[in-house]
Amino acid sequence: KKNLIIFGTRPEAIKMAPLVNQFLQDERFETKVCVTGQHREMLDQVLNFFDITPDYDLSLMKPNQNLYNLTGEVIAGLKPILESFKPDFVYVHGDTTTTMAASIAGFYSGAKVCHVEAGLRTNNMLSPFPEEMNRQVAGRVATYHFAPTIKSQENLLKENITKESILVTGNTVIDALLESSSRVEDLENEDVTSLKSKIDFDKRIILVTGHRRENHGQGFINICAALKEIALQNPDVEIIYPVHLNPNVLKPVNELLADIKNIHLVKPLSYPSFVWLMNKSYLIITDSGGVQEEAPSLGKPVLVMRDTTERPEAVEAGTVILVGTNTSKIIKETQELLDNSDKYKSMSSLHNPYGDGKACQRIIEFISNL
Ligand code: UDP
Repeated sequence: KKNLIIFGTRPEAIKMAPLVNQFLQDERFETKVCVTGQHREMLDQVLNFFDITPDYDLSLMKPNQNLYNLTGEVIAGLKPILESFKPDFVYVHGDTTTTMAASIAGFYSGAKVCHVEAGLRTNNMLSPFPEEMNRQVAGRVATYHFAPTIKSQENLLKENITKESILVTGNTVIDALLESSSRVEDLENEDVTSLKSKIDFDKRIILVTGHRRENHGQGFINICAALKEIALQNPDVEIIYPVHLNPNVLKPVNELLADIKNIHLVKPLSYPSFVWLMNKSYLIITDSGGVQEEAPSLGKPVLVMRDTTERPEAVEAGTVILVGTNTSKIIKETQELLDNSDKYKSMSSLHNPYGDGKACQRIIEFISNL
């Protein structure tokens, strides 16, 4: 059986890397990897760490790349690859433009499309942001759906997707994390040396990440105002913020937070450095999907800077709190976790609803039994 695994951004690469490596070791399959390069630098860092050399690279990242061109170029770029390799199965992940366009191309080729991290839903198709549309389109054209949780399976069943075509696997992000955390315990690299040179790791560390389009503009202004206030009120705390390379994020963050002593704006960290830093953190403030899934496995409470979420399992399990981009709410919940050690302890000892690190194994067994 021939597999083509396609991805383009950092989070997709992290979540597909363990699947790629496990498939490559399995002689029952011929597996090839195609990257679209929707992200470049951040994608390559991940490929490096997991030792993956793509068989095909569409290199589609350009300054001011827009969704029209990207979608068209992914579909057109995949055509010759699909026609020459002729995969039986095409794997896409999650909810990016690469996911949506690659799932359509896979469908055109006649391969069976396999959607990894299937069934997440906000059901807000009127949202101007593309993720929900991307994941729903991938869900429509996929033959097999690898749902991370029971809830995501239920979402798919409600859309009349048959139970036989869905497998609840857990999220592959946990497979990647468990494999990596043992490798990064004594990590020594440029990122870590540079962080250690300017940050006092005996202090409590708040780790911040943010990039979502829905928070661009006023959202990031509010977030920065909250971080500034938290930093000023808590000089005994260090805030570390690896800033996403998107100019809509870089600009306000650099303008509003550059000169505060205990806020450290750094470049996006390589995945191993980021896992190392999550481990060293006291709490995490983020709008990232992947980080909310990872952090509970490391016992770190997460405040999520979004108003709605397609990941309700974490909110229900109590491992994350939604704070939106409301400045006073971010400050209040952060302060509470800094001051109330009982609340902190109970939040950091909860079970992770996103899996046990065996998601890829389940996917491979399912495909091999077809
Ligand atoms: N991450 C990383 N370096 C960073 C920040 C995040 O490697 O500086 C990792 C993190 O561990 C997680 C993934 O990137 O697995 C999340 O990516 P992102 O927040 O860009 O996307 P989302 O998860 O929201 O789709």
